[in-house]
Amino acid sequence: MSIAPASLEPPRYAPRKVRAGEWEITALSDGHMRLDGGSMWGVVPAAMWRAWTPSAPDNTILLALRPFLAVRGKDVVVIEVGIGARWEPKWRRIYQILATETLAGSLRAAGVAPEDVTHVVASHCHWDHIGAQVVERGGKLAPLFPNARHFAPAVEIDVAKKPGHARAPSYRAEDVTPLEERGMLTAYTGVFEPLPGMRCHVLGGHSDGVSVITLNEGGAGETAIFWSDVVPTAHHIQPPYIMAYDLDVVRSFDVRSQWIERAAKAGWIGLFYHDVDHAFGRIARDGRRYALATV
Ligand SMILES: [Zn+2]
Repeated sequence: MSIAPASLEPPRYAPRKVRAGEWEITALSDGHMRLDGGSMWGVVPAAMWRAWTPSAPDNTILLALRPFLAVRGKDVVVIEVGIGARWEPKWRRIYQILATETLAGSLRAAGVAPEDVTHVVASHCHWDHIGAQVVERGGKLAPLFPNARHFAPAVEIDVAKKPGHARAPSYRAEDVTPLEERGMLTAYTGVFEPLPGMRCHVLGGHSDGVSVITLNEGGAGETAIFWSDVVPTAHHIQPPYIMAYDLDVVRSFDVRSQWIERAAKAGWIGLFYHDVDHAFGRIARDGRRYALATV
């Protein structure tokens, strides 16, 4: 079974929820952007990907910027924050950043104020994933969530501060330094639990330290997995569908083969960051390929 082609225009924001054990997970929104369809699809021919993610006349496809809120008792966690508002008009235009919603606005709709957030967990430090955690106030950079402990992979923090030529277009040091200076940022490696029942697995491939984040892995009830850019949309669930942005394609293929199979076998609920229409979806085996079952 294949899913319908992706939307060309931003759909209306719907704060959908799922449960994974004791976690209540809400899909938030920090708006949308458009990127070149060919970049999002790597070596996949346009004759194929255009049927799944239709392109605009300028060859771009629409992408969501979708943080997730995970709440369990007094733990109020934001997984990935979004692209944020610190963008000059030139870059807003180039990346077609569409502020259809904001992280703070969608959190407010969920009844959460920035001061209430206790933990902020990032999968990697590309600006479209962590830009929103630092805001400009009175000409100074400050954390959006003043009371939260922030987490990001160690190698990603290092690269954000000193990206070098190949990585420079994807990172901004000021997305992490204001947090680091205040002692609010914890670097993680390997398999790391920011909280019991929430596990970051550093994988690499797409970027040096991109991670997937599981909720209630091994616990009673459902398990959820935040795919980040390991599986950017529900249309990218076949292991060879690797973005041109990925730094290490061979590693991406290995990581994706292993984790897509693991999630399919266990029936985990996937959380998709860039998929316009699917915040949630379960990947299932469909003969030699994979298919998406909506949640
Ligand atoms: Zn991304």
